[in-house]
Amino acid sequence: MTDLELLAAADAAAARAYAPYSEFHVGCAVLARDGRVIEGVNVENAAYPLGVCAERTALSRAVAEGFRPGDFAVAAITAAPCGGCRQWLHEMGVDRVVFRNGGRVVTPHIGLRAEDQEGRTLQEVAPGARRRVDVKPEFRSAIMSGLRAAANDPGGTSAPVFDGFPITVAGKTGTAERGAQGDQSWYVVAAPYDDPRVVVAVTIERGGFGAEAAAPAVRLILSKWFGVKAKFIEGKSRTQ
Ligand SMILES: [Zn+2]
Repeated sequence: MTDLELLAAADAAAARAYAPYSEFHVGCAVLARDGRVIEGVNVENAAYPLGVCAERTALSRAVAEGFRPGDFAVAAITAAPCGGCRQWLHEMGVDRVVFRNGGRVVTPHIGLRAEDQEGRTLQEVAPGARRRVDVKPEFRSAIMSGLRAAANDPGGTSAPVFDGFPITVAGKTGTAERGAQGDQSWYVVAAPYDDPRVVVAVTIERGGFGAEAAAPAVRLILSKWFGVKAKFIEGKSRTQ
């Protein structure tokens, strides 16, 4: 089964989502190593935090059927997974995750260009998008402006971490509670906000809240990428 077929299965599953509050229907299709496909949808609840994401219902269903971590090859999701679901996908040892990204299905590749000894470009490595998918521009822009606010506006979970950073970024903190193991810190960013050229995802085991460890690490990585002075600022947000 190809990634696109798996995404199509996730699309079909999304129609069965129970999302009367957000009306944002998400589907997930997980391909197990034995070839079976397990589907999940988001299931919301009047008590908002009790809602369950599509990835988690798919993986929960798989575990209930006897699958265990390491049994999964690919997970296809109709939207970008939240920090908590990234933690689940990591726990379950899913080899590869495919999700929608501004309508562009990225072709994974290693390498930017081949150069000769003089630094002249011999060949660009640019496989292009595998295909584009429909996403309503107003949905995408609502999500991106929310992520920009989270990293820039007063009260944003990672705004203090990016204080003074010369590039406007769109980013999201995440904190996965692991009981006695301590919190696992997550941060995912796209930058620059108005024309993303790079996406960085960092997770740090026992790192605490997303703003405490992962987001400052992302700032350091982006400093290198954009060639600006590196500065480590630990955020204080206790929002998970
Ligand atoms: Zn999720």
